[in-house]
Amino acid sequence: MKKHNFNAGPSILPRVAIENTAKAILDFNGIGLSLLEISHRSKEFQAVMDETVALFKEIMEIPEGYQVLFLGGGASLQFCMIPFNLLGQKAAYLETGVWAKKAIKEAKAFGQVEVVGSSADKNFSYIPRATTIPADADYFHITTNNTIYGTEIHVDYDSPVNLIADMSSDILSRPVDVSKYAMIYGGAQKNLGPAGVTFIIVREDILGKMERHIPTMLDYRTHIKEGSMFNTPPVLPIYTIMETLRWIKSLGGVEKIYEINKRKAKLLYDAIDNSRMFMGTAAEDSRSLMNICFVMKPEFQDKEEAFMEFSKKAGMIGIKGHRSVGGFRASTYNALPEESVQALVDCMKEFEALNA
Ligand SMILES: *Cc1c(COP(=O)(O)O)cnc(C)c1O
Repeated sequence: MKKHNFNAGPSILPRVAIENTAKAILDFNGIGLSLLEISHRSKEFQAVMDETVALFKEIMEIPEGYQVLFLGGGASLQFCMIPFNLLGQKAAYLETGVWAKKAIKEAKAFGQVEVVGSSADKNFSYIPRATTIPADADYFHITTNNTIYGTEIHVDYDSPVNLIADMSSDILSRPVDVSKYAMIYGGAQKNLGPAGVTFIIVREDILGKMERHIPTMLDYRTHIKEGSMFNTPPVLPIYTIMETLRWIKSLGGVEKIYEINKRKAKLLYDAIDNSRMFMGTAAEDSRSLMNICFVMKPEFQDKEEAFMEFSKKAGMIGIKGHRSVGGFRASTYNALPEESVQALVDCMKEFEALNA
C-alpha cells in the first residue's frame, strides 16, 4: 500500500534526492568509490559543497555580504552559539513555543533577555504581537514556524535591530526577503535534508563585536574562513541537501513551491473547517503551511484512537499530534505530494461519514 508520510521531522524528502543519494553511496559520480569513503577535502566533495552553497544562494536570492554555512550540532547548538557570538548586553526574543523557550534559556546565560511577546497563555496557539523591541537590543530572535503547534509567521518582519530567525521547519517553503534578516538558521531535517546538518545564513558584518573569548568551534568566523570545513562536515546530509535544492530549482524555485504549499494547506484546512468532527487548534491568522494541527471536537473526543487506527490502515504515517497539543498533526513539507493531502482529506471524510 502507498504510504503517505506526514512525519514532523525527520520527514519526507523528494524521492529523487533519496535515490540519487543512494546512488552516490554506491558509486559517487562514477569514480568507483562511495561518497562515504572519500575525503571531504577531495575535489569531488568540494564540488558538492560549492554547488550546495551556490544553489542555496541562488534559490533564496541571498544578497552580497551574507555567508552560508553547513555545520553539525543541530538548531539546538545555534540556540547557544547565537548569544555566544552576538549577545553583548541584551537581546529580544519572541516566545512562540518550546523551541523559542529553549533558545531563550540558552541566551540567558550570556546577557539580559527581554521577551517582547509570548503566546504561552494559550498554549502557543497563535503568533503574539511583538511589543516594542528595545532599540539597544543586540538582536531580535524569532521562530518563524512553530512545528509543534502549527503556527507560522508569514511575513518578513521589519525589525529595528538585527533580526535572527529559526527557520528549521519552514525554510524554502515560501519566498523570504533575506535582506531583512541578520541571520537565518535551522536543522535541515524538516524541509531540506536528512538529520545531521544545520544550515546558517549570516550577514558577516554582525560578527566579531564581542569581547568575550569564543571557543574556536563555536565562532562563526572560524567556519566562514574555512568554508564549513574547519573540521569534517556532515558530508552525506550535505549531498542530499544539494539534491533537494536541485529538485526545488527543477520545479521552478521557491515561488512555485509556495504556490503548491498554499494549495496543499488550503485543501486540508478547508476539510477541517467544513468538518462536523474535526477542528483546527491554531488561530486562523497564525496557521502554518507546514504543520497542520487539528483535534476531534469535544463531542467526538472518544473517537481519536479509532481515527488513528483507521488512518493508519489507509496508509497515513506520522499524523499523531505532539503530546503537548494532542490530537493530530499533518506535516505538509515541500516534498509531500498533493495526492497525499488529498488522501488524508478523503480518509477524514470517510471516517466522519461512518462515525458522525
Ligand atoms: C526541530 C526544531 C528544532 C530542533 O532542531 P535540532 O536540529 O534537533 O536541534 C529547532 N527549532 C525548530 C523550529 C524545530 O522545528
